[in-house]
Amino acid sequence: MSITALPFDASLIAEKPRISWVELSCLNCGELAGYVENERIVKPVAPGRVRLDGGRPRCGRCNGLLLTGERGVATSHAGIG
Ligand SMILES: [Zn+2]
Repeated sequence: MSITALPFDASLIAEKPRISWVELSCLNCGELAGYVENERIVKPVAPGRVRLDGGRPRCGRCNGLLLTGERGVATSHAGIG
């Protein structure tokens, strides 16, 4: 089996949005609270599920600490998670 190298087209890749995401789940109640996109944008799974307490994300249900879990890279918001 041979592998053919494809020409690298940087402009094609640049047009596709790439979102790196990390799950935020609650240490206390285990609830998936939301995601961090591109290491800076916090996206709760539902409004109010992530609370920012002094810049640190907390669980909107029980105010527990949120831990980072699964991570990945998506090309659209639908591909997160
Ligand atoms: Zn919680």
